[in-house]
Amino acid sequence: MMIRLCMVLVAVMFVFVSKISAQSNSEELQEKRGQKVLRKLEELLEVKELLDLLKEDSNDMNDEQDNKRTEETIELGTSEELDEERRDYSTDYDCAHRDHPDYGCVGKCIATSKCPGNHYISNLCPNKPADVKCCFTANSDSQCTSGFSDGHCIATSQCPNNDYVSNYCPTKPPGVKCCRSKPTDTCPNDGCGSSLKTKACNVKSNSNIRLRDNNSVFNSKGNNDGADATSNIADMCNGKKSKRSSYDCVISGVTVPTPGGWVCIQAKVLDYLIALANDGHDILVNTITGACHSKTSKHYSGLAVDIQKESSASNYQAWMTKCTSMGGTAYGPGDAGHANHVHCHFP
Ligand SMILES: [Zn+2]
Repeated sequence: MMIRLCMVLVAVMFVFVSKISAQSNSEELQEKRGQKVLRKLEELLEVKELLDLLKEDSNDMNDEQDNKRTEETIELGTSEELDEERRDYSTDYDCAHRDHPDYGCVGKCIATSKCPGNHYISNLCPNKPADVKCCFTANSDSQCTSGFSDGHCIATSQCPNNDYVSNYCPTKPPGVKCCRSKPTDTCPNDGCGSSLKTKACNVKSNSNIRLRDNNSVFNSKGNNDGADATSNIADMCNGKKSKRSSYDCVISGVTVPTPGGWVCIQAKVLDYLIALANDGHDILVNTITGACHSKTSKHYSGLAVDIQKESSASNYQAWMTKCTSMGGTAYGPGDAGHANHVHCHFP
């Protein structure tokens, strides 16, 4: 009996001890688990902090980019993006250089459904979708192309023998009318004469003058459109004309088309840039004949230039004075839309 009791006691004690040890084991385990969870949490917190830091950085960068973009957009005071139509508006080389017997070098790669009068030629836009062809009346209103079999909207100064009709190009600037003859001065290789060519090469090689090389900073449609300041000066220096952009811009909520085609940058504009550089100013040329400007802008006639500071020195007043002293008209800080650049044009 005694032995039995002892055995029961031992058994009870064994159960009790093992329970306690199990309990302490599980406590240990729980503690270990707790510590593990804490460590994991700490790790997660560190990661989160890191992520927050990264996020702040990228926010800063975005802010900077946004600020820059806004500044530049406001700077020109002209261009806004048409986000719904993000496609490549640049025209293939063969199309831009084809001298059409009726229309000259005014071809643009656009959807055939958007080509007024269907005056397009196939196989000149090899890098574009199948429905995009080289249209020679892209800058014309349908009233003009349907009213006259060979009508197209172009500047009256480019229409030989004043062979134009009024009121058939209602969406175009006043100087653009419905012309029924092949226009003059449309091909880039017609050139602008040796004097302008030399001046353009002087601008190109001047170390005080930097030229923007992509109009995308002003408008997404301007991406590599060949009408940026670098291309304008390079084309002129190579004996060609300077390209104008060809897409619809939105200015203060109003859609304004750019004229497309080619034009000579006039001597006064090139002389002005060289004069500023010779005076020791570091300048950044935003636009010359390309990008978005108002409908009747002198930029499209090769008579205007937009410049901004390259270094931190504020020279805007001096640049404006120089412009007027050379017979031009200047807009700059204080004038609407010109807070961060100077526009100078000549008559
Ligand atoms: Zn301007």
